[in-house]
Amino acid sequence: MRLSDLYQQVILDHYRRPRNQGKLPLCDLCLELHNPTCGDVIEVSAVTDGNGRVTDIKFIGRGCSISQASASMMTEAVKGKTLAEAEAVIQQVKAMLRGEPGDYRSLGQLQSLEGVSKLHARVKCAALAWNVLEQAIRAQAARVPGREKGGPKP
Ligand code: ZN
Repeated sequence: MRLSDLYQQVILDHYRRPRNQGKLPLCDLCLELHNPTCGDVIEVSAVTDGNGRVTDIKFIGRGCSISQASASMMTEAVKGKTLAEAEAVIQQVKAMLRGEPGDYRSLGQLQSLEGVSKLHARVKCAALAWNVLEQAIRAQAARVPGREKGGPKP
């Protein structure tokens, strides 16, 4: 099996069996964004502990397979991470989707989204969930002074 086929399998698997689907009754990070060019919608709800660590995150959405698979992968990737760590992953994924050269091996299975950078119409689809989380983190930082960097350092 070629690597690109494997990546295709990962995306399809997340689309068919989305992880962390749903909506948390209470959330520290809660935001919905639309991608009007494709009609994709992603709503993210997440809770953090006192150290700014994402203890739970869920998403609901509708739209194309890339947007929904990317959201599923995003929730898996940031669950258990601090907001600062999550931000770092967000920036790496967005750079990868923009087609910027770099070493993305640390992203693990998220590298399966790299091929989307060559499909210009789909970049916004794949980036949607990451934009939702990024903006939700910024909105929370604005509400909670001193949390801009994702909470106190250990
Ligand atoms: Zn789409």
